[in-house]
Amino acid sequence: MGEENSTDKEIINILILGSGPAGLSAAIYAARADLEPLVLTGLELGGQASLTNTIENYPGFPDGVGGNELGDLLRKQAERFGAKVEFDLATKLELNKNPFRITTDNKEILAKSLIIATGATPNHLNVSGEKELTGKGVSYCATCDGWFFKDRSVVVIGGGDSALEEALFLTRFAKSVYIIHRRDSFRASAILQKRVNDNPKIKLILNSVVQKINGTDKVESVSIKDLVSNEDSDFLIDGVFIFVGHSPNTDLFKGQLEMDDHGYIKTDLYMNTSVEGVFVAGEAADPNFKQVVTSAGMGAAAAIQATRYLEKIKG
Ligand code: NAP
Repeated sequence: MGEENSTDKEIINILILGSGPAGLSAAIYAARADLEPLVLTGLELGGQASLTNTIENYPGFPDGVGGNELGDLLRKQAERFGAKVEFDLATKLELNKNPFRITTDNKEILAKSLIIATGATPNHLNVSGEKELTGKGVSYCATCDGWFFKDRSVVVIGGGDSALEEALFLTRFAKSVYIIHRRDSFRASAILQKRVNDNPKIKLILNSVVQKINGTDKVESVSIKDLVSNEDSDFLIDGVFIFVGHSPNTDLFKGQLEMDDHGYIKTDLYMNTSVEGVFVAGEAADPNFKQVVTSAGMGAAAAIQATRYLEKIKG
């Protein structure tokens, strides 16, 4: 038996890693270029957007669209033109020669081009009790877990769009929502700040940080430090929702693709990475915009560039 080589296997045109708005938009464009792309969903079909209850700023949906629903629509649209979407996760990549060799949970794939759209994951607060009580009152997803806090009181930690948007969503269930933020002003958009200020169920605890989450089988309280008075206090609460930013899901590519100090894959206007034939789209490469619409746009651009690259190497 000789060693397996690239001629033993079918070589696909485009492999897309990730099934959020970036990955599925890339799939729509690549499929419409007749390149029969394969999308590996990763752990979350639809990506982070699918965990959002309602997306209000994606163009074309004046009444908003459910995150899950948008993911479903994008997937159907891609499949309609011939994209294949598989529930699988890439675990190893060899990008030093073309075709690229990608090992997944289920198989090995050879691909002439690769689009990385692996997105980002919510950051942890890294305080005592957080890990132990995750799933027992500590959550990173209001859409997933908000329902468990019907008529209860919860804290939301953070001051960005995610924190304020999710705090507003939680008012559907919880009787009180306390936003704990480390400064006295929010970085969230003005419209969300106005809605938060107008919502009688939401109260603000500013210039404060959570130092510890307390409880055994479930969350009972958080220990808070007031950064102005330097006073410590315990605040009784049923749930803790943490929204303190995101980090790119790019560990798999470390040492193979150039990245910035925060792990975002370096790219240019044309979605190129440091390896020819490997393109990137969405939050894996975007520390700035992080919007569904910008990720979708990057996905489309990456697929157009991959199509041009495939034309070029065909000669
Ligand atoms: P973000 O904008 O980076 O905000 C993170 C928040 O967490 C900041 O307020 C930050 O405080 C706080 N924070 C960070 N580390 C902390 C720590 N260790 N302890 C306490 N607080 C901490 O993240 P995001 O809200 O997840 O949003 C990410 C991106 O997605 C943004 O570009 C946002 O515009 C976008 N997004 C948009 C929408 C929408 O358009 N509807 C919805 C969700 C997200 P400081 O402010 O003091 O730094």
